[in-house]
Amino acid sequence: MNAPYADRLNALCVRLRKADVSASLVACPADWRYLTGFTGDSGFLLVVGRSAVLFTDGRYTFQARSEGRNVSVVSCQGPLLGAVSAWLNQNRIHKIGFDPEDLTVAQFRTLRHACGSAVAWKPLSGTMRELRSVKDGAEIAQMRRAAALAGDVMEHLFGFLKPGVRELEVAAELDYQMRKRGASGPAFEAIVASGPRSALPHARPTAKRLKKNELVVLDLGAILGGYCSDLTRTAFLGRAPKRIREWYMAVHEAQAAGVEVAREGVPCGDVDLAARRVLAGRGLDKYFIHSTGHGIGLEVHEWPRLANGQKQGLRAGQVVTIEPGVYVRGIGGIRIEDEVLICPSDCEFLTRVPRDLVEL
Ligand code: ZN
Ligand code: ZN
Repeated sequence: MNAPYADRLNALCVRLRKADVSASLVACPADWRYLTGFTGDSGFLLVVGRSAVLFTDGRYTFQARSEGRNVSVVSCQGPLLGAVSAWLNQNRIHKIGFDPEDLTVAQFRTLRHACGSAVAWKPLSGTMRELRSVKDGAEIAQMRRAAALAGDVMEHLFGFLKPGVRELEVAAELDYQMRKRGASGPAFEAIVASGPRSALPHARPTAKRLKKNELVVLDLGAILGGYCSDLTRTAFLGRAPKRIREWYMAVHEAQAAGVEVAREGVPCGDVDLAARRVLAGRGLDKYFIHSTGHGIGLEVHEWPRLANGQKQGLRAGQVVTIEPGVYVRGIGGIRIEDEVLICPSDCEFLTRVPRDLVEL
């Protein structure tokens, strides 16, 4: 079981050498989980050459020693950053990389002050997120299972949506079904948005009751074996009127256009553009108010972003969502979201719930 962790540490090591630093401070729990297997959420990891030292407190020491691979664990009594600074000084580390997105200003000040001028801090944005974005075979297998679980819960919920049921009851059923099927928890707070509220892309469930002849957007994801899933379907309670059907078809085609272009080497922004163009052709692009998708893995929102102007190319092994939508104030919203695995010449759906309009 050491293999993936040793390989990942090696890959980071190569990047650190290229960046001309002798060590790196890892402050993001998903990053240290990726590098060592430690699933706790309090600590700091120092990667020095091919070895790693985890600084954590008494609550996590046993866990870190049993879960961590290729890592020595320092159990700290006092502030973690004090221990990190002392270790850096003792081991004469002079140049260290860190991701500015993962450290607070206060933490960075503490480190700089404690280490003094002997240590130079080099911001290395995106090193870990790029490494993590390309999944290996075991990660992809796990993500397939997490996606299948989300799909099962979605299909269960279609049988649960009825006029009179509150959004909060749907959310409670959703959480219960995820856990019952083995999820360690939700990947994010689920979105259950009905009627005009469905026009809010990130609406949280409320006490509002579902009504006949309304749209309902369900956006849910589970964490299974550490990996997240993310799936959205839009249902209509009753028989959808012509205008709603047309909007639904436009979103469906926009998603298909994004899926059609998504493959290795294609700039991320092109997937966004392909989806947006379809909606523009129907005069609906002004209602598409977010980007087309995002990477997903140990965290629900990961690198890369499938957004306007993103020039970096997709890489085989990345898992991304493709999730266009239209949101019309006062009426409602429609979103269709799936996860796809980027392959050399196309992409493959990991979420497998039918994408047609669900009328209940
Ligand atoms: Zn989602
Ligand atoms: Zn998403």
